[in-house]
Amino acid sequence: MNMRPPDPGQASSRARARMVERLRAQGIADEKVLGAMMQIPRHAFVDEGLAFSAYDDTALPIGYQQTISQPLVVARMIEILRAGRELGRTLEVGAGCGYQAAVLSLVATEVYAVERIRPLLDRARENLRPLRLPNVRLKYADGNLGLPEAAPFDTIIVAAAAAGIPGSLKEQLAPGGRLMIPLGTADQRLVMTERHGNIFRESRFEAVRFVPLLTGTE
Ligand code: SAH
Repeated sequence: MNMRPPDPGQASSRARARMVERLRAQGIADEKVLGAMMQIPRHAFVDEGLAFSAYDDTALPIGYQQTISQPLVVARMIEILRAGRELGRTLEVGAGCGYQAAVLSLVATEVYAVERIRPLLDRARENLRPLRLPNVRLKYADGNLGLPEAAPFDTIIVAAAAAGIPGSLKEQLAPGGRLMIPLGTADQRLVMTERHGNIFRESRFEAVRFVPLLTGTE
């Protein structure tokens, strides 16, 4: 009888394939986004004790009162931003454990991800290292201020909820650039704004639940 132990790599790839099928059933149609989410091992971004839930469609705790975003929401934000264009030079505000930055790296030319909690940023670095993604840079910074030294950005994606769009982020959008952010306090909704000269055109999408965008670093 064949008594080989189960191969964890194979098991996680099966779980990831099921997650991608679920995303498809939930309406995600962008093959490039689905392909990126098939490739990035979400279980490697959460504590070992939570790895068994890594491919469920839920946000999970990553410490410091923060969470790794729900797969559907990660897919939706990127799919909406990608519609009809390339992501180009991308800024992510709220890198957390680094998962979304990893997914973005496969669909954007360059990814700058900023995080305000130092130990989380260190963890994101550790999580990302084995994946050897050459186009991701992590920075310890308050994302309300954007990242002036790398601006302008074709895409800005904010992974924390705010009452309004921070002015610096709008200023750091390139012409034709798009920014996605959950707006609202009790009731949040995904909002995308697209820059045309100094006109910003807003579109509103579904209700979501994100941790708050805070100010300063810690
Ligand atoms: N993108 C992550 C989700 C992280 S949760 C993922 O892939 O799952 C949101 C993150 O935003 C938290 O880590 C929080 O610390 C961070 N955050 C909140 N306000 C911020 C700010 N002003 N600047 C940078 N990061 C911020």
